[in-house]
Amino acid sequence: MIKVTCLGAAGSVTGSCYLVESPGGKKVLVDCGLFQGGRQMEARNWEAWDFDPSRIDILFLTHAHIDHSGRIPKLVKDGFKGHIMTSPPTAELCQALLLDSAHIQEMDAEWQSRKNKRQSKKEIAPLYTTEDAEASLHLFKPVERDQVIQVEPGVKARLRNAGHILGSSILELWLEEKKECLKIVFSGDLGKKNQLIVKDPHEVFDADYLFLESTYGNRRHRTFEDSKSELLEAIKYSTSHNEKIMIPAFAVERTQEILYMLGEFQRQGMIPEMPIYLDSPLAIKATEIFRRNRKYYDAEAQAILDEGFDPFDMPNLRFTSTTKESIAINEKPGSAIVIAGNGMCTAGRIKHHLKHNLWRQGASLVIVGYQAMGTTGRRIVEGAKQVKVFGENVSVRAKVFTIGGFSAHADQKDLLEWVGHFESRPRVFLTHGEPASSQALADKITEIYGLQTYVPFWKERLILRPKELLSEGAEIVEPEADMENTLLNGIIDLEKELKALRKRVKTAARQGKIEGDELDRLKFLQEELQGLME
Ligand SMILES: [Zn+2]
Repeated sequence: MIKVTCLGAAGSVTGSCYLVESPGGKKVLVDCGLFQGGRQMEARNWEAWDFDPSRIDILFLTHAHIDHSGRIPKLVKDGFKGHIMTSPPTAELCQALLLDSAHIQEMDAEWQSRKNKRQSKKEIAPLYTTEDAEASLHLFKPVERDQVIQVEPGVKARLRNAGHILGSSILELWLEEKKECLKIVFSGDLGKKNQLIVKDPHEVFDADYLFLESTYGNRRHRTFEDSKSELLEAIKYSTSHNEKIMIPAFAVERTQEILYMLGEFQRQGMIPEMPIYLDSPLAIKATEIFRRNRKYYDAEAQAILDEGFDPFDMPNLRFTSTTKESIAINEKPGSAIVIAGNGMCTAGRIKHHLKHNLWRQGASLVIVGYQAMGTTGRRIVEGAKQVKVFGENVSVRAKVFTIGGFSAHADQKDLLEWVGHFESRPRVFLTHGEPASSQALADKITEIYGLQTYVPFWKERLILRPKELLSEGAEIVEPEADMENTLLNGIIDLEKELKALRKRVKTAARQGKIEGDELDRLKFLQEELQGLME
């Protein structure tokens, strides 16, 4: 009997982490990501583990994004001593990303401690330190994809290209139970076909169980060609006004995709030659890693190399590592393209560029990634006339371009197509998505392929059996150790239901659409629910 517990990115999109327990007592983890977005979600990072980190034999890491890798230093700090099996580019990217994340954790703790001190409260220790991050880097054991590795007796694994970011992998895991073998596939984050730089996601044909991401399980992306022409339009708009083009960037993949496209525009003479600045130390490091890992590029990127160009370099591209170089960008008048972190305009050097350019007519701000609620980027996208930057009100007069087609995630159509390759009729668990998105994809998969699907909730423990023993599909058991969380989740769901019900009853009663009997029944239900929650 194999148990898989969904310890993150279940009913949400961050904190990816699965605990897999084999009958022989082996315990492995798949991903160990940071929870991000909002205080409540981030509080989960501080919770005690639901297992003993020192008892985990191995961690499989699908890719470097911090929502999949960001709790590794904490895991190591708390006693994990096993290996981290991942692809070589992921290991390299993690060096940059985990050290950067540790630095952010230290800064946050320092800021909070200073605030606490003024209120005579206790100092706060960071979630983990640079030393913890450095210690975790020693445990990385890069393995090339496409080869079956015997990791432990009874446990075999293979990484396959996921086509999401450089080095991103799908994990195929074989676990032996007595004389039978069970295969679980973890999709990790899946990319889409024809994405820039990386090769298309590997098509997998067989699995007994599939854990599939569903970030865009209910959506379709805009086409990439539209996005390309929008970026071109932004550049043309600001060059004609002799102003700057600001691109708030995500350090890994998105930044390199933009550099790739700018290179293409330039080689084809589609944009005038002007300075291009990559103004983010982390994005600079990531770009250097991309440059070193050419063998993982797709055929189109290889073709650029064959023509004698570097897809991430141009004669007019400047890497501005130091603060001095960064400040100098705004001292020079005239058009320039400035790619600066962070992607949601909440911190980093982009804030300086916003302060200098956002109020200038003719300048442009090109938004190329998701903007979470409450961020400066989101306020601008939603049409704010003014935003606060470094405590100062800055008018938004620059033209804002929101470009949606750069996502490194498969959308509903791509996910369905990928699932269609399975010939073994796996049972599918939908994770890494908001509940509505996961459920929509689950329904589609059942409708189109007739596969059994299930959307697990956070901390749910699933019991998987070898297929021969299955008649009704996997047996789902209630989590044993986390009854409290299950109940809390249940209450949150009930509260939502109740709110919706109250609204429906009110509107229907007002419009006289409800018969007396029905109204009584609804009121009774409402009271029952209310009673349950008190
Ligand atoms: Zn990712």
